[in-house]
Amino acid sequence: MSTADNSPRKPLIAGKNVIIVGCGIAGLAFPLALRKQWPEEYIDEFPNVAIYERDCRETHPGREGYSISIRGDNMGSGIQTLHKMGLLERMLQVSITGTSKSESKGKFTLWDLDWQPLLSIAGPKTDDDLPATSMRIRRDALRQVMIDALEALLPEGSIHWETTCTKVEPQPSKVKVTVGRNNAVDSSDVEIECDILIVADGAGSKIRTQLRPEDRLSFRGIVCLAGVARFPEGEVPKPMDRNWGGVLGAGPLGLFVSPVDARSALWNLSYRADQPRQRLSAPLSDDQANELLHEALDRAKPFKEPTQTLIKATDPATMAVYNAMDKQPFSHDANSKVIFIGDSNHAMSPFAGNGANMALMDAWDLALQLSKSMPTSSSSSLDLGPALKAYDEMSIPRSSKAINMSHWSISVLHSAGITFWAYKIFFAIIRLIKG
Ligand SMILES: Cc1cc2nc3c(=O)[nH]c(=O)nc-3n(C[C@H](O)[C@H](O)[C@H](O)COP(=O)(O)OP(=O)(O)OC[C@H]3O[C@@H](n4cnc5c(N)ncnc54)[C@H](O)[C@@H]3O)c2cc1C
Repeated sequence: MSTADNSPRKPLIAGKNVIIVGCGIAGLAFPLALRKQWPEEYIDEFPNVAIYERDCRETHPGREGYSISIRGDNMGSGIQTLHKMGLLERMLQVSITGTSKSESKGKFTLWDLDWQPLLSIAGPKTDDDLPATSMRIRRDALRQVMIDALEALLPEGSIHWETTCTKVEPQPSKVKVTVGRNNAVDSSDVEIECDILIVADGAGSKIRTQLRPEDRLSFRGIVCLAGVARFPEGEVPKPMDRNWGGVLGAGPLGLFVSPVDARSALWNLSYRADQPRQRLSAPLSDDQANELLHEALDRAKPFKEPTQTLIKATDPATMAVYNAMDKQPFSHDANSKVIFIGDSNHAMSPFAGNGANMALMDAWDLALQLSKSMPTSSSSSLDLGPALKAYDEMSIPRSSKAINMSHWSISVLHSAGITFWAYKIFFAIIRLIKG
């Protein structure tokens, strides 16, 4: 064997053209994860990456102004993934829970209707290798840290904001992609070609609808009204000034609350329904926002104060109506050049509290497989089969488990009668065991 065997071999996708559709969590994380795992010897042949994103670079409070949990437990390891990507410290600095390992930064809690804790979870045990084992962070803050890192990594102009992908045509060895700028001045569609297309366009993926029309989202019987309430600095009411979680005991109604920052907290009021309802999100008209606010105040009557105070303080620009929808993951064909990651593959409702974690892990694991995958034969064609198989084996079981877990969370949050009491006893036993 020659000494060359000790040095990394050229990755299969060296010098290839890669298009990513969607600059959400998975689409941002994938090129960052690929660069982190790419052998330095072949840095000159790092793939040419172009990203197309429907939205603009700036965030809108109604789309990104809420907070999410990044976890480091056996259900999701977003924390470990951000650590491997070299982004965890920066994220923690802008997170709600901060850099401290102490428990004083707030806990995931389940409350009864009197806001008495039924269960409080501080997150997994501290780990000497990690500065934190879980975090609660504004979604726009997480997005901004990744955008800054990506802009520092890719050549200028690699991210095409306000550009929607409208069509994908897989060819035998290439993928043809049609994109269009969203503004009226320059609205003509452009066709481009790439060797690999990474689809990261989220739960309602238009590309999935086009290439896999039968693979639809399922309604999970829950409709949500949501918003972010604003208060003077430091006056967010307790307990949602520090803690986040659900209020149980109102039967078919559920309430989730969380701090967003020192001046805001989010609320998510959910109710059981036979049919999904029309989705509404920012920007809403004044009348729509007002109507929703009144509906939320009315529906939230079973929940004690500070629920009404919280809802009354809602910023109308953040009000939304959405349905709990999900779909199980799917595996890729061995000869596919179109790869679906994150919610575009395995959409999960917010009740999973894990979709962002799965998106980060998908990005890392796909980048791992593609950066270590070598040509399998002397053939010049791009054989992604083994890398895709290895990737699917990592992504599918965990996302399926997270989706199943979200069904359990829905059942707990909207339980009534004897089922509610059974959960109450279950949580009391856990409290006893945990001391
Ligand atoms: C209220 C709420 C609370 C949540 N809480 C949590 C939580 O606590 N923990 C957690 O882990 N997860 C949580 N999630 C889920 C998490 O936000 C998603 O699972 C995650 O964002 C999925 O990442 P993604 O990159 O696959 O998709 P997204 O982040 O949705 O990104 C998709 C991107 O694609 C763009 N796009 C769409 N179509 C096109 C197109 N045709 N052309 C170009 N661009 C396009 C979109 O504009 C978007 O930027 C929550 C979600 C919601 C709504």
